Order: sequence, then C-alpha cells, then structure tokens
Amino acid sequence: MHPTLASDLANLDLLLEHTWRHAVVALASLERRPAALVPPPAQPVPLPNEGRGLHAALDEFTSRWAPGFSGSAGPRYLGFVTGGATPASLAGDWLTSVYDQNPTAGIDSSAPDLEREAVSWLRQLFGLSDAQQGVFVTGATMSNLVGLALGREWLGEQKNVSVSDQGVVALGQVTVLSATTHSSIFKALSVLGLGRKAVRKVATLPEREAIDIAALEAELALLDGEPVIVVASAGTVNTVDFDDLVAIHALKQRYPFWLHVDAAFGAFAALVPEHAALVAGLDAADSICIDLHKWLNVPYDAAVQFTRRRDLQVRVFQNSAAYLGVPTDNPDFVHLTPENSRRLRALATWFSLAAYGREGHAEIVARNVRLARALGVLVDAESSLRLLALTRLNVVCFTLAREPTEARINAYVQAVRDLGDVFITSTLYCGTWGLRVAFSNWRTSEQDVPRIFDSLRRALDALQ
Ligand SMILES: *Cc1c(COP(=O)(O)O)cnc(C)c1O
Repeated sequence: MHPTLASDLANLDLLLEHTWRHAVVALASLERRPAALVPPPAQPVPLPNEGRGLHAALDEFTSRWAPGFSGSAGPRYLGFVTGGATPASLAGDWLTSVYDQNPTAGIDSSAPDLEREAVSWLRQLFGLSDAQQGVFVTGATMSNLVGLALGREWLGEQKNVSVSDQGVVALGQVTVLSATTHSSIFKALSVLGLGRKAVRKVATLPEREAIDIAALEAELALLDGEPVIVVASAGTVNTVDFDDLVAIHALKQRYPFWLHVDAAFGAFAALVPEHAALVAGLDAADSICIDLHKWLNVPYDAAVQFTRRRDLQVRVFQNSAAYLGVPTDNPDFVHLTPENSRRLRALATWFSLAAYGREGHAEIVARNVRLARALGVLVDAESSLRLLALTRLNVVCFTLAREPTEARINAYVQAVRDLGDVFITSTLYCGTWGLRVAFSNWRTSEQDVPRIFDSLRRALDALQ
C-alpha cells in the first residue's frame, strides 16, 4: 500500500473526526455565511504527484474551495427549488459512502431491500397505491426521462413494435401534449430520440399555468386515435399550478395516451390535508416523477420514479448479461434504471423518513407554504413590487412595478445576492420578466420572512 494511504488508514478515526469537526463548523456557519456569492475566479493547480494525505487535502479544500461555496443548504437560499438536508438524511448520506453498497443485484446484500422499503415508504407518503412501483434515480430530470422512456415503449406496444429492440425509427413521428412544460421534459425527449419538437403546447386556463382540459380534449380528438404521450404538471415552477389530473385521466376513456405526471415538488402537497386536493388523481398516472432533493430535504442527488407498468420498464432497461440472470417478478434494480452500478442513494431518504415520519415531513411542507404566503402578503403591499400570481403554494412570483426588463430583473437578482443574506432567481412568466422566491428548505423559519423581505426592499435601492 502506498505509505500515505497506509498512514490514512492507520489514522482513520482521527481523520474522520477532523472531517466531522469541519462539517459541524460548516453547518453552524449557515446562519452567517452568504446565501449565495459571486464565484471567485478559479485558480486551478496541477494534479499533485505526491499526495499529502487526507488531513492536508481537507486543509486545502477548507482554504481554497469552501469559502466560495454558497449557503444553499441554509434557510434563505430561495432560488430555483432548492431543498436542504435534514439531520437524519445527512447521516444517512454519510453512511451511504461508509457502507458503499452497489444495490444492483440482490445476491450479496440486503441493500436492495432497503431501497425497496424506502420506495414503499414514499408510496405511502404520497398516498399512492401498490400498483405504483418505484426506483431511485438521481433527480427529476432522470425521473422524467425514465417515465418518458416507458411512454415511448408503450407507444410501441400500441403499434405492435418493440422500441427497445427496433429503436425509435419503428415509431415514426411522436406527439407529446403538454401545457406548462418543464425544461427537463424537452431535454429528456432529446435524449430519448423523440425530439424536443415532439411537444405540442396545449392552451392553459386564463391567467393560469394549468392545462385547459377542453383544449387538451380538442387536441386529442384531432389526433384521430393516434396514441400519444400527455405530460401533466403537478406543480409548475413559476406559480406552482396544477393540471387537473382527475379530468385528464378521465379522457383516457376516449383517447389512447400515456399519462406522465411531472410532480417534482408538487407531489408534496399530498402530505398536508389542506393542500392534498391539488394532487388528486396522481395515483392514476402511468408514470410519475418526484424529486427528493427538493422538498423531502435529502442531499443531492435523489428522486423517485413510479410507474404502473414495470413490465415495460424491464423491457427498456433490462441489462442482458448471463451472470445477472433473467428479471423476475421482483426485478433487480440493474434492470430498472439507466445506471447499472449505482450508490444506495435511498439510504438518506430512508433515514429521514425513519427519523421524522410522515408528520415531520408534512410539517416542513406546511410551514414552507405558510412562509411563502406571508412573504406574498408583504410583497403585495410594497408599491415598488408587483405580484405576478397569487401564492398558491411555496413560490412567490413577482416583478418590479416599474420597467421589469430582463436587464433590470437580472440586476435585481444580483443586488439581492450581493446583500449577502438571501438568494432568489429570475424567470419569464407569461412574457414578463420576474422573480421567484421558492420556499423548500426545512431550516427556514418565521423569523426569516421579515429578513427576506428586508433584502428584497433594500435591493430596490441598488437599482435606481
Ligand atoms: C426541478 C424540477 C425538475 C428537474 O429536476 P432536477 O432534480 O433538477 O433534475 C423537473 N420538473 C420540475 C417541475 C421541477 O421543479
């Protein structure tokens, strides 16, 4: 063994204690460190020939890189839709690397069964039936990609071709109907060979991001029995609007389509009785995408993907190799996801659900919604700002009352960031440049709301 490696092995206890100490200090600094910052110019150094061991590597990381990291794990990083990591999920994530399992095939470890238990807990958390079978993937983009791959295979089934064997050419032109479509759907369609232009945009309801069911039905009728994919949104990123999943599903009686629901963070409405109606009908979907590193507050990267058609999933993702065996009724994960080898990313979720249960996680969701609405009220009362939509759930979408040009909106995002306390991101909503404040971190509390609003107001002064 290389002497430095041998020395690290001999001192593992002490070295992990140092690392743990670093972690404790970093977490304690979240309240004080900037929510976001201008990345300092990178100063790359060459690959070391002689490494100096873990202790020195930790020192180098602490001085060269850690100061440039954002406070994205903290309570006032409100850009995109960004979750943090609950204490239990963090511990679970650490132990994922400690045990370093590869839960691919179930012949050597109980790790795949832990993943199955975590999936089953998630199914119960979101009120889904046993017909929905799930796997862990890296994020909602990958979950959307898998769901659409299943839709693609289903289209083949309707036309008596096997896309997984013959390729997308066997399908011909594919149509995807969707109203307010997340960018990751287009990316997934590009990867899957269906093409970004497969999406036909369906009209939304007036002043809404939710699909107009009558318009959807009209599009379906025009297709004259041609099977298609419908991508529904359960929680749009700008205004957290929801398509009527029950009404969409009812259309299946008359028109053939695969229903994929992008419920990346909106699925969490199911945890709070007051908001659960928003996702009524979710269980009827053919495939469902739910992110976990957003509102479940487990560390990056994790999402779950559910489907009612596991048989199609095995067809698409089967990894044929004699030593891996033939997929059974309870297929190994190697036959279900894009990856073969993968980390036991379910462990962080398992820990958080074991530690806090349904109630603990429901409280995070309910609190985030309450805080977003409280901020919405403050923004609405500020004459220099203008709400772009009512605060349906956990995102406040607003703009500058005066000249909301792209340049001024971007300048405003930077002004907020440079005050150091809060981070928000920009958006284009119904043709107007605006801003989003997205609440999804478990650490954000009532005290943060006036602090956030203070930054929003002070950033106005920097604009002119
Ligand atoms: C965040 C998000 C995605 C993409 O999620 P990643 O985890 O970044 O891959 C897809 N759809 C919706 C609605 C989202 O909010």
